[in-house]
Amino acid sequence: MIKICIIGGGAAGISASISASKGNGGVVLFERTGSVLNKFVLSGGGRCNISNENLGPKYYFGGSGHFVANVLKSFGKNEMLSFLKEIGSKYTVEKDGRIYTGDAKDTAHKLISYSASLGTEFRYKAFIEKVGIKEGGFVVSYRDREEFFDRVIIATGGKSYPETGSDGFGFTIAESLGHTVIHPLPGLIALDLKPNPFSGLQGISIDAEIILENKKLGISHAQKGKLLFTHRGISGPAAHNISGRYIRISREKGTSVFISFLPDLSGDELNRIIQNGINTAGKKKLLNLLTKYLPDRLVSRILLITKIPEERILAELRRDERTRLISNLTRFGINISGSAGFRTAHITTGGVSLSEVHSSTMESKIVKGLFFAGEILDADGVEGGYNLHWAFATGFIAGKNALKKK
Ligand SMILES: Cc1cc2nc3c(=O)[nH]c(=O)nc-3n(C[C@H](O)[C@H](O)[C@H](O)COP(=O)(O)OP(=O)(O)OC[C@H]3O[C@@H](n4cnc5c(N)ncnc54)[C@H](O)[C@@H]3O)c2cc1C
Repeated sequence: MIKICIIGGGAAGISASISASKGNGGVVLFERTGSVLNKFVLSGGGRCNISNENLGPKYYFGGSGHFVANVLKSFGKNEMLSFLKEIGSKYTVEKDGRIYTGDAKDTAHKLISYSASLGTEFRYKAFIEKVGIKEGGFVVSYRDREEFFDRVIIATGGKSYPETGSDGFGFTIAESLGHTVIHPLPGLIALDLKPNPFSGLQGISIDAEIILENKKLGISHAQKGKLLFTHRGISGPAAHNISGRYIRISREKGTSVFISFLPDLSGDELNRIIQNGINTAGKKKLLNLLTKYLPDRLVSRILLITKIPEERILAELRRDERTRLISNLTRFGINISGSAGFRTAHITTGGVSLSEVHSSTMESKIVKGLFFAGEILDADGVEGGYNLHWAFATGFIAGKNALKKK
């Protein structure tokens, strides 16, 4: 019998326990807290956005896209839907492709009972302090005890939302076994602005685009989506999805971030709209033209920043004002001063280098019999079910392959 140790009872650990328990192995899952799936139950605001119809490497950042593509080839949308059926969970697909199970707590309950019914032994309040290599296997230390296993799957998550149990200790274990950890940073997080040109506008949400640039590094990313103004700066999917990439290069000289408030209009198109307004309705206030596209309070703020009086009628708009306005509406420079950090980040960017892991099995290229799954790996997805899909996919592959004879 192959004895398999899974460290961490998040989505990746549970998924690994299900595929690993299908053979004639003995599977023990160690979880440091008193319960499993603590982060999973918070997902999708409790509705559990578990996957997405539109999967693909372009929705993930971090290590190699080739690695991500291989994982999604082995465990894609169809495999996820079969998996949900197998555990007895229903799901719905939303217009934008997001797949929800509807109730994260109920899905968690189904996952735990299914895994237990297959024979997984759950050990709670069992913090794994060390993993040593011994006689073709591993010695796992916890609560002043040591236990031998043939295989170890590390599924300890990253450093985000540490109140759920993931504080980054898995990275220490991975490094102690010879692995390289790409510097972990918070991802999918709200960003603070200093100065905050939108202070007082909290609660306003618009469709926008955030542009991240560093010409020296040849980097230019544009992220469209909902943008929410907060007390401290910006949040919402557009801000969350750019945050990880911004944080990675934030200390590099020449990194700039811009907001396009009208992402579907180019500067030229906007210029034509203003010109058309001047030609056909010169007595109309500029403010009234712009509020067709953006909330009143935001338009007032942009006019204030652009130093154009709110009373300005289109016919009296000066050329310099028009140039500044178009620039501010399409490329408004912001100064990001930080983020709330790992405490509220939804994911961790960075992690165990994918170049040291086999993409077809999740086995370490450095230590035979050692596997990784989930957020501990250097891959992070955008919002929309991509991170849970990653956790389930890599967990499933790791569990299945841990069962195989060496
Ligand atoms: C509020 C919130 C909402 C989210 N919503 C979504 C969503 O809707 N869709 C989506 O795709 N993603 C979402 N995510 C991200 C997603 O939940 C995570 O990427 C995913 O749960 C990671 O799973 P994991 O198993 O790799 O790690 P985790 O869920 O972090 O689990 C790791 C587990 O390992 C345990 N552990 C750590 N170290 C040890 C140790 N030494 N010994 C024993 N146990 C240990 C921890 O206690 C923890 O239980 C959300 C995240 C947050 C914080």
